[in-house]
Amino acid sequence: MLNLVLFGPPGAGKGTQAARLVEKYHLVHLSTGDIFRSNIKEGTDLGQLAKSYIDKGALVPDEVTIGMLEAEVNSNSNAKGFIFDGFPRTSAQAEALDAFLSSKDTEVSFMLALEVDENELITRLLERGKSSGRADDQDAGIIKNRIQVYENETAVLKTYYANQNKFFGIEGVGSIESITLGLCKAIDTLV
Ligand code: ADP
Repeated sequence: MLNLVLFGPPGAGKGTQAARLVEKYHLVHLSTGDIFRSNIKEGTDLGQLAKSYIDKGALVPDEVTIGMLEAEVNSNSNAKGFIFDGFPRTSAQAEALDAFLSSKDTEVSFMLALEVDENELITRLLERGKSSGRADDQDAGIIKNRIQVYENETAVLKTYYANQNKFFGIEGVGSIESITLGLCKAIDTLV
């Protein structure tokens, strides 16, 4: 199985690039942010809980997020592999993912990290907020909070995967197409 972790700060372009990669490599795209948002839309209990965190720019608690992600993997038992987008976001999530995939005799193949500087991120998120309807993209304070949470809790995962020789940084600034090419080049070299 090819199991990619697509990584990067909020606004790095993970969702955009994941959509392009799934087509080329026939993987299942699991975006925890998208799954939370569809639960919010459908008014589920999970959605209500997630909303209270997402609206502040905070992370949804690990046990909730991990349980949801594992259920999604289990419900795609025929998948050739996955692109994990927005997961893992904490050390506990990364450890849970390793244990879970290992129980299925598979593993994270590698992490591809989109590298984008902070000013560019804020510009992109505010721009997305004008059309996406996402409240968490419309408020500079919430955006700063998300970037801060990324620095404090998520960025450490680069070291986590580097220690397993699975970390690869990719230039995340440029045209969408050129970034896709960079990602594909890395994937094709690694598999
Ligand atoms: P972005 O990467 O632009 O912040 P996402 O759609 O990936 O957007 O996530 C939106 C929000 O959903 C996050 O700010 C967080 O509140 C919640 N979320 C998504 N993935 C996770 C996760 N793995 N753990 C905890 N919370 C998450």
